[in-house]
Amino acid sequence: MSAEVPAEELDCLTCSACCRGHAGVIPVSASDLLRFERAGRPELALRIVPGHFGDEAMETDERGACVHLGRPGLPHHCSIYDVRPDICGEFERGSWQCHEARRFDARTRGA
Ligand code: SF4
Ligand code: SF4
Repeated sequence: MSAEVPAEELDCLTCSACCRGHAGVIPVSASDLLRFERAGRPELALRIVPGHFGDEAMETDERGACVHLGRPGLPHHCSIYDVRPDICGEFERGSWQCHEARRFDARTRGA
């Protein structure tokens, strides 16, 4: 089990555990879809899949990682950061959900 690092010591740009691990758990809301449209990125609405609890969710790859995770040479960066779903911006570094994501990531990577 990984030790819980204090929030101020966590670096999201070398982590991205909350963007990986499970399919269907990164919800996309109607306001997110509107943001994509207004930003001139309507194609992002094509990368939506049925999510949990009847929501729509970000498409994930075979590892359960969001399809928008990673930029060239920057595997932990969000490639649609400026228009990312509200839930991504609201996810709190150092929260119990953050630590759970990091624990799950460590387990699945065999760390
Ligand atoms: S919020 Fe937590 S799990 Fe997500 S990238 Fe930052 S440190 Fe990692
Ligand atoms: S949209 Fe960006 S921040 Fe949100 S889960 Fe995907 S890669 Fe992570």
